[in-house]
Amino acid sequence: MLGIRVSELAKELEMSATDLIGGLGEFGVKVSGPAATIDADTAQAMREMFGKNQGESKTVEIVASPTVKELAEALGAPASDVQKKLMGMGQLVAINQRLLQDVAKQLAATYGIKLHAKVEAKVAVPHAAPKHRAPGGSVVVRPPVVTIMGHVDHGKTTLLDAIRKTNVVEGEFGGITQHIGAYQIEVEHEGEKRKITFLDTPGHAAFTAMRARGASVTDMAILVVAADDGIMPQTIEAIDHAQAAEVPIIVAVNKIDKPDANPDRIKTQLTEHNMVPREYGGDVECVPVSAKMKTGLENLLEHIVFQADLMELKADPHAKPTGTIIEARQEVGRGPIATVLVQEGTLRIGDAVVCGIAHGKIRAMINDRGERITKAGPATPVEITGLSVVPQAGDLLEEAKDERAARQIAEKRGHSERSTRLASAAKVTLEDVYRRIREGEAISLNLVIKGDVQGSVEAVVGQLQQIDQGEVRLRIIHSGVGPVTENDVMLASATSAVVIGFNVRADGPAQAAAERERIDIRSYNIIYELTASVERAMKGLLAPIFEEVPLGTAEVRATFRTPKGVVIAGCYVTDGKIVRNSQARVLRAKEVLITDKIGSLKHIKDDVREMAQGFECGIVVGDFIGFQIGDIIQAFELRQVERV
Ligand code: GDP
Ligand code: MG
Repeated sequence: MLGIRVSELAKELEMSATDLIGGLGEFGVKVSGPAATIDADTAQAMREMFGKNQGESKTVEIVASPTVKELAEALGAPASDVQKKLMGMGQLVAINQRLLQDVAKQLAATYGIKLHAKVEAKVAVPHAAPKHRAPGGSVVVRPPVVTIMGHVDHGKTTLLDAIRKTNVVEGEFGGITQHIGAYQIEVEHEGEKRKITFLDTPGHAAFTAMRARGASVTDMAILVVAADDGIMPQTIEAIDHAQAAEVPIIVAVNKIDKPDANPDRIKTQLTEHNMVPREYGGDVECVPVSAKMKTGLENLLEHIVFQADLMELKADPHAKPTGTIIEARQEVGRGPIATVLVQEGTLRIGDAVVCGIAHGKIRAMINDRGERITKAGPATPVEITGLSVVPQAGDLLEEAKDERAARQIAEKRGHSERSTRLASAAKVTLEDVYRRIREGEAISLNLVIKGDVQGSVEAVVGQLQQIDQGEVRLRIIHSGVGPVTENDVMLASATSAVVIGFNVRADGPAQAAAERERIDIRSYNIIYELTASVERAMKGLLAPIFEEVPLGTAEVRATFRTPKGVVIAGCYVTDGKIVRNSQARVLRAKEVLITDKIGSLKHIKDDVREMAQGFECGIVVGDFIGFQIGDIIQAFELRQVERV
């Protein structure tokens, strides 16, 4: 068990060990002296009792998205405690999983600690010498980072292209742009030049995959809906993904140039998905556009800037640079190439960086226009070369003191990643939820539901919603028609959900992803079984299943009553063996009279552990006293089996 010495804790709390021992006594914990060790929970209670930071809130500096472990260290609390609190917030998070910045902040607040995400203090990367950095920090407005989502063929690519061409800085683009997975444009807004960064990886797959890894790069989502087609399955999926990420959505009602465009129908349909357009009294902005005719684009961009202002997006260009990998690949002759979205600070050529298990010195930087640049500030996407290996999308890029430090950190991570990858991955299964509910940790069961036809999905969702929710909240993160896909698994991973398939199975990539992300996919063909197991999980009643293993049979040939009133069956073992403390069933003419434990097993006068075929013995089954000659005793064992 994790613990801390009384003397150490006293030092940490800046009090004498004697006082602390007194405090422990008041708390009901007796210790032998300053050298005694107390458990983490008790230590935390003492911290809460004697911590200096009560009332006033202390500020701790930490990376924007710390892992649970990093956060726990920064807060001076046991990681298990932090995990418990996260579960209280409805999140099942593994110790090495990264937290979204907001979640980390919210959690720290419960400890009376304010997180300062700008500069990294506690974690891994030593601070670079401030040779080329301006002294002091200055937080400035940063451009919003926008993802475009929507159903296939609704015009995502066309819209991204059209927006790119509205750029007031670069009028003529031609086809010379280098594709780097993200681009930035500049628009005029109230007489001011404002930048917007678009992630050029349309679709929620990349979005959710990144989030599943703990990276949150997108500030808002543009949902493209074709006005002639309306809300389609992937539109709903996109809504669910964005809502799960708590990212604001602006709807671009596209293709309004088409004669059969019907924007009003879309607005009505949106209300059915928790999205109420402003015209209907809600807060969802629906902007009519035609990506093809390039109409309505300025209006859309205005809304993006407006939303960004509401969100007060800020960053410090003078902070230590951090960013997130958007995409990465290996290129012959150039080595690993990664597109980074710079999030804090300014990234420069020559910077030593660590990025997941990759490290290196930035050799060259290319912007979205294919130009070589020497520095990149917050919300700027750049392509970098100089990394040792290809990093993963979603990996955090951080500056290190020098190349050597970068290599050391990356190598250490490489080792620990290999040894802890499986152990530390978040595993969300119904059993797990059950256990956590029983232990009072979980408060919500998150589900992603897929079914064969719309009718069955609706029926499943309807039935589930009728389950009495009690202490545990049932949250349906997403429901849709079709097999369980990799997207579903990534969404489940990002939201700690269990995937439920009704009359559908997981496709190959989904199975692989589920194995990698350790996500539970359950398939059912009977609606009752589905709802029953979800209900059991919610009520914490998902007891283990036992399988009966037969041991042997005995026939009753005589009965005896002891002075204390216990009835012993004098038996002959006809097959197998009879084992003391195993289960037994007493049958008369094939009818079961009782099932209970074999409390006593005797051979002549001796207590025995078991009796084999061909022997005579005395058997007592529970407190059953109704034996008759000719009754059959069947002994069996219960073995716990894995649930399916
Ligand atoms: P994506 O699958 O969402 O990326 O959709 P695309 O951008 O590839 O567009 C699908 C089709 O719709 C293409 O043939 C486009 O030319 C067409 N399209 C896209 N936007 C518009 C629009 O505003 N009006 C019309 N009439 N067609 C459009
Ligand atoms: Mg496309």
